[in-house]
Amino acid sequence: MIADTIHSIEQQLAGKAKLIAVTKTKPVTLLQEAYDAGCRRFGENKVQEMVEKQPQLPIDIEWHLIGHLQTNKVKYIAPFVALIQSIDSLKLLQEVNKQAARYNRVIDCLLQIHIADEETKFGLSPEEAEILLNTPELDDLQHIRLIGLMGLATNTDDEEQIRREFRGLKQLFDQLAEIKRFNVAFQELSMGMSGDYQIAVEEGSTMVRVGSAIFGSRF
Ligand SMILES: *Cc1c(COP(=O)(O)O)cnc(C)c1O
Repeated sequence: MIADTIHSIEQQLAGKAKLIAVTKTKPVTLLQEAYDAGCRRFGENKVQEMVEKQPQLPIDIEWHLIGHLQTNKVKYIAPFVALIQSIDSLKLLQEVNKQAARYNRVIDCLLQIHIADEETKFGLSPEEAEILLNTPELDDLQHIRLIGLMGLATNTDDEEQIRREFRGLKQLFDQLAEIKRFNVAFQELSMGMSGDYQIAVEEGSTMVRVGSAIFGSRF
């Protein structure tokens, strides 16, 4: 059942975008099922939940943190996290660098950009992202790599609005991809969820984060 859904989503993505299976609130038995169907990239939005699940599952899973991250919790995921998709400040990036150094790692990160027409969603404005990517302080961060952007479209039925928001994020991505530093090398654009991943891929997404379409709705 889960396997069929995963295979049909993978078929639609046709190698254009990577599938991040969003497993928040779901039990490890379901994650194992998704793993057995071929999923190797899992997204969680809470540090504690990710830290609990990670040791119970195979070691070759890439764990993506997709929710708001507090600086005091970075230390718990630093040993194993593959990609932190929700960087929204220099201070957070500095803490990720510090904790990654303790484990002799370089942790890949995305800047989360606020594109939705909603107050509640986290993220940087385009201007703030550009300032961060040009700040001299980045030179001190040997243990992080900024490899792209993540954004959430507005939760709406208006497909044209969603498409406009994704198109704007892709334009920002292309513009910021010109910035080359030793720890800035854009290659991933994470956009699209269960309801809008097809539009996102059409607009240039390289990574879709799909939860409920695979695992059913969350209660
Ligand atoms: C929950 C979540 C998703 C997945 O949402 P679905 O609609 O269940 O696919 C994607 N991205 C983020 C940041 C999330 O928190």
